[in-house]
Amino acid sequence: MTNTRKPLELQIIEADITHLQLDAIVNAANHSLLGGGGVDGAIHRAAGPELLAHCKTLGGCATGQAKLTPGFRLPARFIIHTVGPVWHGGHQQEPELLASCYRQSLQLAEQQGLHSIAFPAISCGVYGYPLEQAARIAVTTIHAFSRQAHSLRQVYLVAFDDRMRTLLEKTLSEHAR
Ligand code: ADP
Repeated sequence: MTNTRKPLELQIIEADITHLQLDAIVNAANHSLLGGGGVDGAIHRAAGPELLAHCKTLGGCATGQAKLTPGFRLPARFIIHTVGPVWHGGHQQEPELLASCYRQSLQLAEQQGLHSIAFPAISCGVYGYPLEQAARIAVTTIHAFSRQAHSLRQVYLVAFDDRMRTLLEKTLSEHAR
């Protein structure tokens, strides 16, 4: 019998993640899950106060872990909240923890049988992760996961500016070689 399962497709887009109509978007949250600045603030504003009320029941989230909520007023059906590592120079398990954010989020999406998911550049804002290293971890972790993906078909890495888009595209094309 031939295997008709489509491979997982990874695409880079430049967008406001809160506008994406997908099965899930990922939030670069903090431990409290109660909102913050950057993409976290934008997601809470767009999802509405129901999101904060729901997050208050979740008991926070550890670095490298992920938790799922409904998307509430967002076009996306679900939000996967993950807590990226703060960059302290690279010797406090930052690479492992950042990879874990991507892996755990993808695993949650698979458990829900989702087809599409979009990630922001986790830890690349106020958490200060060096952008090139973070981009490499994002691309390699998603590629490694693609072998065990069943429901997921499309994964988007979302850049919020031109610089991040160029960097992600370069990283993806280098990885494909
Ligand atoms: P962290 O605390 O994990 O560093 P930030 O929210 O400060 O998270 O930044 C993570 C990345 O998300 C940055 O690259 C930032 O430019 C980007 N970002 C901020 N707002 C949005 C948005 N609305 N959509 C997509 N990406 C965004």
